[in-house]
Amino acid sequence: MKKRIAILGSTGSIGKQALDIVRAQPDKLAIEVLTAHHNADLLIRQAIEFQPNAVVIADDAYYSRVQQALQPMDIKVFAGRQSLLDIVEMSTIDMVLVALVGFSGLEPTYRAINARKAVALANKETLVAGGAMIMSKVRHSDLVFLPVDSEHSAIFQCLTGEHVPVSKILLTASGGPFFGKKRDELSGVKAAQALKHPNWNMGNKVTIDSATMMNKGLEMIEAHWLFNVAPERIEILVQPQSIVHSMVEFADGSIKGQMSLPDMHIPIQYAFSFPYRWETSYPKLSFAQCATLDFYEPDRQTFECINLAYKAIERGGNIPCAMNAANEVAVAAFLHDKISFLQIADVVACVMDKINYVNEASLDNFSHTDALSRLIAKEYIQSIERK
Ligand code: MN
Repeated sequence: MKKRIAILGSTGSIGKQALDIVRAQPDKLAIEVLTAHHNADLLIRQAIEFQPNAVVIADDAYYSRVQQALQPMDIKVFAGRQSLLDIVEMSTIDMVLVALVGFSGLEPTYRAINARKAVALANKETLVAGGAMIMSKVRHSDLVFLPVDSEHSAIFQCLTGEHVPVSKILLTASGGPFFGKKRDELSGVKAAQALKHPNWNMGNKVTIDSATMMNKGLEMIEAHWLFNVAPERIEILVQPQSIVHSMVEFADGSIKGQMSLPDMHIPIQYAFSFPYRWETSYPKLSFAQCATLDFYEPDRQTFECINLAYKAIERGGNIPCAMNAANEVAVAAFLHDKISFLQIADVVACVMDKINYVNEASLDNFSHTDALSRLIAKEYIQSIERK
């Protein structure tokens, strides 16, 4: 039986790589649903190739274009955010891959879990903002909930077969394009420089997060919720070659790690194939050729976002959600050249100071916090722009 997959965000970086896997595994996987935000042309091409049951274009301005293109093929076409939320409940879906960017992933993930779908989560912001709510549903249930983020896939692989508590998670980071740089060298950097990631080919949001190292802060919180490990037991370690994707230390001092070339196809496929592993034709790691594996402590004076993330999870409640919203707004402002690279952390710190603490693990709280945090972030950005 083929596993029938819904890909939320099929035109993004993860979505496209997920389709590579479906293309390579036609006897194991089939596409049931594809969704895109506004890349109508690519969505149409993907739908023609993969013949899903239905597609959703979230920006309804593109509805008629998609509808006209797919009408002859008997593919159902829906539009709008509400359709994106409703479609995950479709009875013919076996697994939902959430490959949306940012807070927008939280509600569809929540709906998929409530509909008892297997979920492969590539959207870390869902757990940063709403981890308490999502994991209270997932834990003590038999729901399949698999991480796609490469570090979390690595940790999950290290924990598979283990039935003991974790002593420590060693969460590895590439260090991003500015690894080794100090604050004064980063004050004038522009988006084009920050978008040049040394190892990984990813979307813009996560690439900027990788440059500020907020990505690792978000992933620390993601790991905390996924694996129920206290933040003080999650240690960030820079591994510039991006070969060791994370490690787990156990009580006896044994450390397990997962290694491969930096290629997102591997963790995406593992989420589809788990508990099995499938043969692939992608290049494989050669230890003789990779020569060295280096490890460093992160520079927390330069990359302040790491400290902000530990502070946010320590305070708990809606503070990580506020941090995430502020970061999304700040990254967009940096990409539009409205604030400097170092001001991204300032925006996040400002919002974390100003937002009211609410400790309630509900969608209403997180949606409200997200909206309010965005407003505070935008006001602050306007105030520093004027200076
Ligand atoms: Mn990652």
